[in-house]
Amino acid sequence: MSEIALRLSGIDAFYGAAQALFGLELDVPRGSITVLLGRNGAGKSTTLKAAMGLVAVRSGTVQVDGADVTGAPPYRISRAGLGYVPETRRVFADLTVDENLMVGERAGPGGWNRERVFDLFPALAGMRDRLGGQLSGGEQQMLTIARTLMGNPRTMLLDEPSEGLAPVVVEQIAATVTTLAREGLTVLLSEQNVRFAAHVADRAAVIERGRILVEGPIAEIAADDAVRDAYLTP
Ligand code: ATP
Repeated sequence: MSEIALRLSGIDAFYGAAQALFGLELDVPRGSITVLLGRNGAGKSTTLKAAMGLVAVRSGTVQVDGADVTGAPPYRISRAGLGYVPETRRVFADLTVDENLMVGERAGPGGWNRERVFDLFPALAGMRDRLGGQLSGGEQQMLTIARTLMGNPRTMLLDEPSEGLAPVVVEQIAATVTTLAREGLTVLLSEQNVRFAAHVADRAAVIERGRILVEGPIAEIAADDAVRDAYLTP
C-alpha cells in the first residue's frame, strides 16, 4: 500500500469561469492527521470536493493509495477508500440513529458495522433509537462521521468539522478525530482555527487563494508568526 494515502498534483478547478484551485499540490501521508488550514474562501472545501470527485478537476491528478482516480465519479472514489464528511452535516432527520448508520453500511474490508461503531462512540449507542432530526449539532456531526465510517474508508475527509459548534462539543469532535486515527484511518480535515488544528493534527498545509503556500509538521506551522498572521485565523 502506498505511503501516501491521498495525493493531489497540479489541480486546477473552476466554478464556471472562476478558477478556485491553481495547480494545487497536497500529499496526505498514510496514518497522518493532516489539516488543511485557511481562511474563508481560501479553497478548503473545493480541495476536498476535488479529491472526492464532487468538483471537476480540469487539470492535474488525484491519487488514492497510489491509484489514479482523476475524473472518476464519487462512488468510485469512495470505493477506492475515501470517505467524505461535508461541511453541512447531513443526517436523515426522519430516521433513527440506528437507521442512519444502516444506510451507510457497506460490506467489505475494514469491517465496520453498527456494533463496532457503537463501541467506539458510546454516546451514539445511548441514542440509537432517537431520530436524527432531534440530535444537537455536535451529535449530528458525530453521527455523520460514524455513518461515513460504515462505508469502510481508509482515509477520511472532514470539511470543517468544528464549525459552529460550542467549545465543549469541539473537544468531543477532536477526540473523535483522534479515535479515527487510532483505529488506523488517515484523516484530512479542513479548518480555519489554528488552535483546534494544533490540538488534533500532526501535519498542516496552508491554503490561500487556491494554492498551498506551506506544508509541514503542525508544530512548525502553528509557531510560524508570519504564516499565522498573514493567512490564518488565530
Ligand atoms: P469556507 O470556509 O467559506 O467554506 P473554503 O476555504 O472552503 O471557505 P471554498 O468554499 O473552497 O473555500 O471556496 C473557494 C473559492 O471558490 C471562493 O472564492 C468561493 O467564492 C468560490 N466558490 C465556492 N463554491 C462556489 C460555487 N458553488 N460557485 C461559485 N464559486 C464558488
